[in-house]
Amino acid sequence: MKAFRRIFIAPNFFLRSSVSAQKNSHQTALVHSEYQPPAGFEAFPVGIHHASTVLFPNVAAMRSRDWREKLGYTYGLHGTPTSFTLEARLAEIEGGTYCRVTPSGLAAIVMVNFACLKSGDDVLLPDNVYGPNRELGAWMQRDFGIAARFYDPMIGAGIAELIQPNTRLIWAEAPGSVSMEVPDVPAICKAAHEKGVLVALDNTWSAGLAFSAFEHGVDIVMQALTKYQSGASDVLMGAVIVRDQALNQKLEVAHMHLGFGVGMDDVYLILRSLPSMKLRFEAHDAAARKLAHWLKQRPEISKVLHPAFEDCPGHAHWTRDFTGAGGLFSVIFNERFTEEQTDRFVDSLKLFKIGYSWGGAHSLCVPYRMKGMRENWSELGQLVRFNVGLESVEDLMRDVEQALAQM
Ligand SMILES: *Cc1c(COP(=O)(O)O)cnc(C)c1O
Repeated sequence: MKAFRRIFIAPNFFLRSSVSAQKNSHQTALVHSEYQPPAGFEAFPVGIHHASTVLFPNVAAMRSRDWREKLGYTYGLHGTPTSFTLEARLAEIEGGTYCRVTPSGLAAIVMVNFACLKSGDDVLLPDNVYGPNRELGAWMQRDFGIAARFYDPMIGAGIAELIQPNTRLIWAEAPGSVSMEVPDVPAICKAAHEKGVLVALDNTWSAGLAFSAFEHGVDIVMQALTKYQSGASDVLMGAVIVRDQALNQKLEVAHMHLGFGVGMDDVYLILRSLPSMKLRFEAHDAAARKLAHWLKQRPEISKVLHPAFEDCPGHAHWTRDFTGAGGLFSVIFNERFTEEQTDRFVDSLKLFKIGYSWGGAHSLCVPYRMKGMRENWSELGQLVRFNVGLESVEDLMRDVEQALAQM
């Protein structure tokens, strides 16, 4: 009985007087309980710690505890052991030191901008940047006095000529969304650093696995965990990872002011998917390259925009800097096919579903109207983007073949 009781006394109750004396009704007993499970439980999954309120043992602890740099727990918004664990693991995968997760990939982009930019500043974005990041740039320019200018993603060291005294941040994306150009990230970083400008990279396509952003000079890495880290088309989440402590402090303040807390059940789902991420990534990569090679032989297709193919602008940068690919690529149809025909192709697919996002087990296909999306776009044929899932690639090829016949 003695041992039994000892186990049930929580450390908190040595500091705070027991509430049991006040529990005279069922109602209070329904709210308060002193039960503490026995210590010593160990298992592979991290516990799912839900909290808005975080408890302090006394007022002095409440007054002295600091949320910054994860020195203590103060409020659920700033994280619990569950989200701290995910953040530590993401930083490790990416080769960074500090990480904060956000409610979506787009929220991670917003947090970087709030941490690095203020009115009067200038930000440079690649012309092939993730669409909502482009829209965000236009919004900041229109309503917040921050100039957002777009550069040719293949500019490389030439970015130096675009840097102004008020330029604070350069975004890069490797490869760029939809059109897949692979930029010369080290050249952009070198030119930026010579003028004291930070480089933020949207590294979502590589999942932090196929491109070592920090080793290539990047200051801030952003990930949409919604894609490969989730891997199941069910969770929206983002992450920002850095090595520099001062930069981390700015990001933490932005994270706090923006109120970017995340749900711990969602964090758990990402943690659950991490162990299989590399295996999934490699399977997506192998299948996508197989399908892309097959498409390359087809008379309907004029170009395969996959970084591992010579058709893709920046292919040499990919060969030099990357260790893999993933499941996302685009093709340009021969210009004799109209939009109506390529839409019919997409509509005729059975295993490939129509929908945004990518990185999950299900294959997806989306046609894009590139003219309205780029400042410079000279391809004449229709562009269609494929996300190759985890189905049998032979079945996927058969599906594409029958849909091509419907055009
Ligand atoms: C999906 C995506 C994002 C945004 O992620 P969400 O979680 O959907 O907001 C950002 N960048 C790239 C390259 C993406 O593909």
